[in-house]
Amino acid sequence: MARLVKKFGGTSVGDIDRIRSVARRVKKAFEEGHEVAVVLSAMSGTTNQLVGYAREAAALHDAREYDTIVAAGEQITIGLLSICLQEMGVPARSFLGWQVPIRTNDMHGAARIAEIEPENLEKCFKDGRVAVIAGFQGIGPDNRIATLGRGGSDTSAVAIAAAVKADRCDIYTDVDGVYTTDPRIVPKARKMDKITYEEMLEMASLGTKVLQTRSVALAMKHGVRTQVLSSFEDKPGTLVVGEDEIVEQEVVSGIAYSRGEAKITVVGLKDRPGTVSHVFAPLAKANINIDMIVQSAADDNRTDVTFTVPEDDMLRAVKALEERRDEVRFDHLLHDGSVAKISVVGVGMRSHAGVAQKMFDTLADKGINVQVISTSEIKVSVVIDDEYTELAVRALHTAYDLDVD
Ligand code: ADP
Ligand code: ASP
Ligand code: MG
Repeated sequence: MARLVKKFGGTSVGDIDRIRSVARRVKKAFEEGHEVAVVLSAMSGTTNQLVGYAREAAALHDAREYDTIVAAGEQITIGLLSICLQEMGVPARSFLGWQVPIRTNDMHGAARIAEIEPENLEKCFKDGRVAVIAGFQGIGPDNRIATLGRGGSDTSAVAIAAAVKADRCDIYTDVDGVYTTDPRIVPKARKMDKITYEEMLEMASLGTKVLQTRSVALAMKHGVRTQVLSSFEDKPGTLVVGEDEIVEQEVVSGIAYSRGEAKITVVGLKDRPGTVSHVFAPLAKANINIDMIVQSAADDNRTDVTFTVPEDDMLRAVKALEERRDEVRFDHLLHDGSVAKISVVGVGMRSHAGVAQKMFDTLADKGINVQVISTSEIKVSVVIDDEYTELAVRALHTAYDLDVD
């Protein structure tokens, strides 16, 4: 007998038939004698619709009310699954975040889980009932509903698995595992049996949305055995594991892309100490996350600084800089919301040279201009025109020998 946390994403609970098939899967595990906690997303499309309503009501709105609205989708699916389970003779009850309780910090809209009190869930297991828990939400220190950022149900699931010391956390989704790149844009993408926490973390933070970044960080920290698998087929998925469990390490194990990026260039700054500090201070104050940065100096004591931000923050960033024009002192600003970040990832590149060069050669061959570059021990990222995203990902996938035959 094992203790299992099973999370089902939006497509997997997209209508009543699918919720019934989730119930059958849960019933099977329950009848095999396992203790089961289920974490659910909202039906696919619901959260987008709720976010749309909030924006329509007011472009700039109270983040606590935003959370009240967007957390609603999960309330529906947990009630429906509990009913379907009960209909099948499986004792089950639903839990909203506050009923567990899942306690978070006060960062409404992108809250972090601070603590999960396991007692209520333990009681549920002891009573022989299935706990059906709303993903994506918790309760903040202000006693208000807080959500964990888009895709946050993955994080709810892993955090619950850590809190109840589950044997495994299964993340059921609409693909049958983690692939070398998004199988929806590269049909030749290869499914991995295993991927290291470190690579999965890097892939997720560089845009691979099959797992929310924070969920991977938590799984790594608490050693939660996490599996990504299909909710439609019965077959093993991809296990996220420690590096010691990987026998043969590829140099590059995956290609990630992120389309929601924007590039801003501050033109005509004075090239002297303090300049970059002045540029980024107003952005830090506005709580805008900066990703890649390049500074290019000209020979007349002038310099330009280019950086990337999430596309949703582009206009706020421009406004914050324009408002501080007198202190920052620049000629003008350029901004471009139609860029994408493409990254190659692999722990094997630590001990291999030439990985970045191959990337630049491949993009050059396709006539794709590289606008910004950043590297770390296990990844190389470039910013390109968004229009070439699919072409770049496919070409790189082939260049690093990742295509299935
Ligand atoms: P869920 O609603 O189940 O949480 P998501 O849409 O958040 O599902 O994540 C699954 C999607 O992630 C897949 O449909 C797939 O298009 C996308 N994806 C992107 N990159 C990858 C990858 N490398 N491997 C698998 N899926 C990926
Ligand atoms: N329903 C939320 C979203 O769409 C959380 C999730 O699906 O993980 O972002
Ligand atoms: Mg998701």
